[in-house]
Amino acid sequence: MKSAWVERDAKHAVDRYGKAGIDADLALRIYSTQLLGRNAKLVLHGGGNTSLKTTARDLLGEDVAVLHVKGSGWDMGAIAPAGMPAVRLDPLRKLRTHNALSDDEMARVQRAFLIDPQAPSPSVEMLLHAFMPAKFIDHTHATAVLSLIDQPNAEELCADVFGGRLGFVPYLLPGFGLAKKAAQVFDNNPHVEGLILDKHGIFTFGTTARETYEHMIEMVTLAEQRLNNNRKPVFARAQLPQQIAPAGDVAPILRGACSLRDVGGVGAHQRMILEFRTSDAIINYVNGQDVARYARAGVITPDHVIRTKSRPLIVPAPPAGSLDDFKSAAQRCAQQFIADYTAYFARHKARARGAVMHDPLPRIVLVPGLGLFGLGATAKDASVAADMAEAAVEGITDAEAIGQFTAIGEADMFDCEYWPLELAKLGARKRLPLEGQIAVITGAGGAIGAATARAFAQAGAEVALLDLDAVTATEKAKAIGGAAIGIACDVTDAVAVRAAFDQVVNTFGGVDILVSNAGAAWQGKIGGIDEAVLRQSFELNFFAHQKVAQAAVKIMLAQGTGGCLLFNVSKQAVNPGPNFGPYGLPKAATLFLVRQYALEYGADGIRANAVNADRIRSGLLTDAFLKQRAQARGLSEKNYVSDNLLKREVTAEDVAQAFLAQALALKTTADVTTVDGGNIAAALR
Ligand SMILES: [Zn+2]
Repeated sequence: MKSAWVERDAKHAVDRYGKAGIDADLALRIYSTQLLGRNAKLVLHGGGNTSLKTTARDLLGEDVAVLHVKGSGWDMGAIAPAGMPAVRLDPLRKLRTHNALSDDEMARVQRAFLIDPQAPSPSVEMLLHAFMPAKFIDHTHATAVLSLIDQPNAEELCADVFGGRLGFVPYLLPGFGLAKKAAQVFDNNPHVEGLILDKHGIFTFGTTARETYEHMIEMVTLAEQRLNNNRKPVFARAQLPQQIAPAGDVAPILRGACSLRDVGGVGAHQRMILEFRTSDAIINYVNGQDVARYARAGVITPDHVIRTKSRPLIVPAPPAGSLDDFKSAAQRCAQQFIADYTAYFARHKARARGAVMHDPLPRIVLVPGLGLFGLGATAKDASVAADMAEAAVEGITDAEAIGQFTAIGEADMFDCEYWPLELAKLGARKRLPLEGQIAVITGAGGAIGAATARAFAQAGAEVALLDLDAVTATEKAKAIGGAAIGIACDVTDAVAVRAAFDQVVNTFGGVDILVSNAGAAWQGKIGGIDEAVLRQSFELNFFAHQKVAQAAVKIMLAQGTGGCLLFNVSKQAVNPGPNFGPYGLPKAATLFLVRQYALEYGADGIRANAVNADRIRSGLLTDAFLKQRAQARGLSEKNYVSDNLLKREVTAEDVAQAFLAQALALKTTADVTTVDGGNIAAALR
């Protein structure tokens, strides 16, 4: 591993932070923390921390010895001064004389000695940093080091590779006990340049930021060199089908298998988002004959367990062609995983007072022949799980190449998985009503489509915005943020529709909600209308709805967790306006389409509903067009938009909220909701 230290950048950090009154030591502490945090082979999603011992001025104006240590919840790659809270060092050191510290006491200690009471809580590894005398300390879960220490003979290997330069601390759960143990190991040999924490990670010490960082790089390099020596070939390949089904066909099946079916029968399935990864290294790993042994042996470093659980779900290879057998096998495997997890919790729950079982669903699925999936309640969580799965593939492959991958025991894993101080890393998050669901919105570049995508994203869904115009789709998705994607799609083109749904499945793993909203208005007096115009309108205002609904239903059936089809049918479907036949006729057919889907797919838990909106200012009802329609009705523009029983202008947001309400109404299907301010002539009978 190469050092990423650039002296000019380091000087720049000193100058820049210096202007904000931050001294050179802390500026360089921030600089090198960022260097560590930006290298995924050293630090992954909160797995590491750094510290600096210096002085700070307290409220009394007195200079006191402090420990600046990484704050919980801060990403090292993007750390700023606020992410390195200062804690009084002397009281922390005094704690070493205690015999034990309960979780509650530890949580209090984390905040009790902060110089700034508003600062984030320091890392749970704070006491280890405090008990060591080194001015600078870096801690990482470097993958190469993990391959070396996740071995039955880790201590021997480390003595050989690091030549006694690092102390060896046996495995303990992070926190007070580990801090005391590490201090003891250090006291026995105060000349060490750092510590190995068995089955966990590495610490390096130094008197400057650069020295400490470069120690880390040097030690990781020594580990890498060892991994490149005397490798045995891994892994022997299992017998697999000649042709493997594509990930896009497999994902919805796995998504359905890895969901919690609602027991009450109300349709409230708990679903997950899936992120697919594959590479030569992943394929080599998942195709191994022995995958069930090495992949299920445990996590490569304990903090992964809160994101990935202690083992992945492994399913059989999916052969191309018929996936029926694969589907039932995947469901059986997932049910077994859930049963095993429930039993694991029951075996160990006495260790965690009052702990409530996390959902028993897997966070990683290995698919021989294909690759792996990360699973999560959100696309972000799925991506973090996939990153950790990839690190595990690398770490375990290298561990097996030089010996045998060995993880901490089941009880230790449980302690970490249910340790409140570790779980604090995940932060408090309220479960949103559409969390874990995937919504596709067509015509999403327009006012109603964009407002609907926004409303669904705010309700927790991952959203895919389809629009004829690629730039608009991308812009609107960007404005929503998170994992929202924009896809160019002409919904009248069957090939484009298939490609768009493939992209959604490849991004998120499936589809739960379709908002078929794309439409355009054609006008003309019905007796004189050119048939080509009528057919053109039918293509978009009827057949396109059918095309996207068909594509969505196919995926929903593969998932087997129901779904929701929502259509924008407009009030023209029930109340024709003059010269608006070419628009109203296909919309009337679409209204019937809603009922046909509701009738034929209700038994599969798929609901179909429609919104009848009217007179919404949008791309369809532009100001010029609005003037025309107002004239056709003999009204002024202003009176036209609020010419309804309530005398209120109806907005795109109102329509979005109606779609959202329909998506959430689990017992409503074949419904038409009017969002028009009240129009008796268009009221459904
Ligand atoms: Zn750690």
